[in-house]
Amino acid sequence: MAYPEPLEALVTAFERFPGIGRRTAERLAFHALRDPESRGLAQALERAVRETRRCSRCANIANADPCALCSDPKRDAHTVCVVEEPRHVESIERAGNYQGLYHVLLGSFHPGEGSEERHLDLGRLVARIAKEDVRELILATDPDAEGEATAMLVLERLEELKKPDLAVTRLARGLPSGAAIEYLHKGVLEDAFAHRRTLRSRQGS
Ligand SMILES: [Zn+2]
Repeated sequence: MAYPEPLEALVTAFERFPGIGRRTAERLAFHALRDPESRGLAQALERAVRETRRCSRCANIANADPCALCSDPKRDAHTVCVVEEPRHVESIERAGNYQGLYHVLLGSFHPGEGSEERHLDLGRLVARIAKEDVRELILATDPDAEGEATAMLVLERLEELKKPDLAVTRLARGLPSGAAIEYLHKGVLEDAFAHRRTLRSRQGS
């Protein structure tokens, strides 16, 4: 039995979201049809898609380009923290002691699949580092297998650059393995930054 075409289209749209299977997509679609607030949801979704963009510098999702963080003159532009997701920027900002800029990968590398690599757009990061006067790149990808693989991939790609002044560090391993950056307490995150380890030291000096 097939659903009417508009309903099928809605189910398919929900199915595209991460972690949503066919059953859940159907449940959400039927709920949306019954819920009087659905028009509001549709408008919010449309507005979010229309009014947000990726910052051309840090690739974070923002409503201005460059984003508020990138255009803040008080931030230390010599330090760039690489994270997987926009919500990780929020977590680090909430912890409140990091003063540098960010670069958002919008994903991580899954070594088993291999395919994710091309979605990561590491070229964008490499081009930025080549152009800007960055002295330290802090790899703050998650402390799980994908996060580690992503960090190693970034490190590898940076070797293409002739940048003797660039140091590359990684958040301290004191992080509970498998924990996502976004779930870390303020203190744990502060410690991870304070005790970050060097993967590549500055060679110029
Ligand atoms: Zn930005």
